[in-house]
Amino acid sequence: MSRDTTIRTLDALETLGLLSGDKVSVLAPVVDRYALAIPSALAKVLRAQGPDTPLARQFLPDARELVTTPDELDEPIGDGAHAPVKGVVHRYPDRVLVKPLHACPVYCRFCFRREQVGPGGEVLASDDWAAVLDYIRATPAVREVILSGGDPLMLSPRRLGGLLDDLEGIRHVRTLRIHSRVPVLDPERITPDMLAVLRRKTPVWLVIHANHPEEFTPAAEAAVASLVDRGIPLLSQTVLLRGVNADLDTLSALMRRFVDNRIKPYYLHHPDRAKGTSHFRLSLAEGKALANALRRSISGLCQPTYVLDGPEGQGKWPV
Ligand SMILES: *Cc1c(COP(=O)(O)O)cnc(C)c1O
Ligand code: SF4
Repeated sequence: MSRDTTIRTLDALETLGLLSGDKVSVLAPVVDRYALAIPSALAKVLRAQGPDTPLARQFLPDARELVTTPDELDEPIGDGAHAPVKGVVHRYPDRVLVKPLHACPVYCRFCFRREQVGPGGEVLASDDWAAVLDYIRATPAVREVILSGGDPLMLSPRRLGGLLDDLEGIRHVRTLRIHSRVPVLDPERITPDMLAVLRRKTPVWLVIHANHPEEFTPAAEAAVASLVDRGIPLLSQTVLLRGVNADLDTLSALMRRFVDNRIKPYYLHHPDRAKGTSHFRLSLAEGKALANALRRSISGLCQPTYVLDGPEGQGKWPV
């Protein structure tokens, strides 16, 4: 896309003063292994703050990503055991997760799909998409289709609209859901055309992934408002991350920020055991203590459900 001014190299990060302690030579193997992308608007925010802040740690590569601990897994939530056709994870009877692409606006350094996401080979080929549709058509128990990825809002409105039209054409599909980081981290993509595609007969619920209150820039808030004003219901999901949001003040501010922006907090995920992410993890006991403290200190409207996603593919479990 011609408007894409996303930063994708360490040299560009260095020029912007966005390398923390580690040098380009140390970080090169990190970004060889796990993709790097920072949209220019986000880079501006990070530059204003400096590279070693709770917000920036989510996005800037770190030498510690090369450290793999014995308990880490390629497939931290066991999706592979529930993949009936390429691009589909069917773990719960009434809903399927579909991954139409691998690209994201930004590659989060803690991502549980970090071995799968990245630029290149982005979109499911048309015969693979046809197989996805066949599978859903043949599975009438599925009443909800969740588009995830990658980030579905990286698709052009035309392309995404085509996929949603196809899904809407299946009679037992009553709810569409999209999981995305775009409205907050790459809000320029929420164009009038995108809004038009998301507003349709079959409701599209949008689950916005954000982990730190400072992700809500004025442009992000405007994009979110345009979605809500268009009648699109918004929910949140957050990953609990050491050094980013794992303290009561930050977490409370984030949940309130969601509600201020008419986004209902939905899930707070305990961090997964993805490779090279041990510096982000905290214990379940620490997470529970935080979730309980949140319960005691802020409004019920602001409460997410704290969940653990187990590696055996058993699904999300409230803790
Ligand atoms: C998270 C997830 C869902 C959605 O679960 P909800 O609890 O309905 O939000 C569906 N399928 C898979 C494979 C998932 O990982
Ligand atoms: S946007 Fe989501 S899928 Fe993409 S890197 Fe971040 S956490 Fe992973």
